[in-house]
Order: sequence, then C-alpha cells, then structure tokens
Amino acid sequence: MKVVELLSSVPGIGKARATLIMERRSISPTRRIGGLGQLQLKALQKEITVAKVDPVRGNLIVMSGPGGVGKSTITNALRNDPRFWVSVSATTRDPRPNEKDGVDYHFYSEEKFDNLINSGEFLEWAEFAGNKYGTPRGPVEEWRKIGKHVILEIEIDGARQVRATDSSARLVFIAPPSWDELVRRLAGRGTDSPERRAARLALAEQEMAAAGEFDATLVNDEVNELIAKLVSLATAQS
Ligand code: ADP
Ligand code: 5GP
Repeated sequence: MKVVELLSSVPGIGKARATLIMERRSISPTRRIGGLGQLQLKALQKEITVAKVDPVRGNLIVMSGPGGVGKSTITNALRNDPRFWVSVSATTRDPRPNEKDGVDYHFYSEEKFDNLINSGEFLEWAEFAGNKYGTPRGPVEEWRKIGKHVILEIEIDGARQVRATDSSARLVFIAPPSWDELVRRLAGRGTDSPERRAARLALAEQEMAAAGEFDATLVNDEVNELIAKLVSLATAQS
C-alpha cells in the first residue's frame, strides 16, 4: 500500500493534508509503506496521533526579533515537535550555503514573487535589507485546521500586518541578553559580508524599539529555557 493512500484514509487527514505531511517528512509521493525507514514510520505515527487527538484549530504564533538573536536556531528546534508547523517563507534573497530550497525558504525570482503578491497569495509580505520576504497563506490555514500551532518567523512589518488581520495571533519578540551579545552572534554566524552585517545591525536597532508592540518579550539567553517558555505560551488555550 502507498503511504499517501494510508494517510488519506485516516479521519481528519484526507488527501490534501496527506500530501502536506509527506512533503514535510520528505517522503516521495510514490513511496510504499514497506519502503519506509524506522524514523519515517515513527514520524508518521506521530502525525497521525496528533491529527486524531487534536482537531482543535491551532494557534498562530508570530516570532520576531533582530537578526542574529537566534530565531532560526529556535524554529529549527520546533520543527522536530509534532505540535508545531514552522511556516516556510518565500524570499527573493540568495540562499546561504547551508540553506535548501523548499525547506528553509522558497527562493523565488523578483518576478515570481511579484506575481504572488498580485494574486493575493501572501498572508503578509515585507521588504527587509533589500529583499522581499512573504508568508504563503494556504499552508498556514491548512496546518491550523488540523490542529497544528503554526509559527511564523518574520520581521516587524510582517508581524504588524498579521496583527491587523488576525487579532488572535500571539506576537512574541525575541530579544538578545545584551547588544554586545547580539553583535557577537551575528559575527559568529559568519553568513553575511561586513557591509550586510552593518546594515542588519542598523535595522536591529529599529527592531528593538518595536518590542513593546508585541504580546510578550522573551530573552534568548539559554536557548532551551527560551524554547520551553515559547512552547508554553504558544500552546496555551485561549
Ligand atoms: P537569527 O535567525 O535570529 O538571525 P540565528 O538562529 O542564525 O539568528 O543565530 C545567530 C547565531 O547565534 C548562530 O550562530 C547561533 O548558533 C547563535 N545562537 C543562537 N541562540 C543562541 C544562544 N541562546 N546562545 C548563544 N548563541 C546562540
Ligand atoms: P534572513 O535573511 O536573515 O533569513 O531574514 C531576514 C529577516 O526577514 C528576518 O527578520 C526574518 O524574520 C524575516 N523574514 C523571514 N521570512 C519572512 C516572511 O515571510 N515575512 C516577513 N515579513 N519577514 C520574513
């Protein structure tokens, strides 16, 4: 039996969600159950359990904070938690060496991005440091419908747009323990040229000033402690 047939037959999943789950777990559409590895089987069991026991609409969590504060580190950890789905944004910026298309971002040309803006495909979009970034609307809704809490890791303008259209969204600002530590993290990551880093730091100052607009501010000192706080805030019933 094919994986897609099995998943589609589970109440609360269906064909469209089965396809999304398989994409997320990197399972090809033609794969049969017998061909799955142990880890993939375990992952699917988790997905099925969550879909069955948690039919309540998931929350929308918007996470913002200055570049280098640790947002990607946090979202990478949440990707392994079956209660959450981390939105994959579209961007016109070039991929960094360790980034994969469709996993870290959908890397689009300016033209394709503009077409998607014009056809209303983005929940929000904004320009940041010379590039465009946007959240594809469809998957956010699909995953919330099956009870996943959806995490958006986006900049401030985007967070404001989400707040304007969805008053139930939970806006969380991630702050560094200190300015010096932020500078150290940005330099330590080593993914930006010195010019780009300077531009990011200038933007970071403006971003820090917007923290008061968020529902909560969490300081990313010890990352596991921060994740525990974020999870509790994100999963709390409203
Ligand atoms: P962002 O996505 O906000 O731009 P990253 O997740 O890329 O930030 O983190 C920037 C750098 O800081 C990375 O090298 C990361 O390993 C490091 N980092 C993240 N969180 C912490 C933390 N709590 N303590 C120390 N270093 C951290
Ligand atoms: P980076 O280039 O470092 O990956 O991201 C730059 C900034 O763009 C970060 O502040 C990140 O949160 C933000 N960003 C990423 N995806 C989106 C998105 O879909 N919408 C908006 N508004 N900002 C985004």
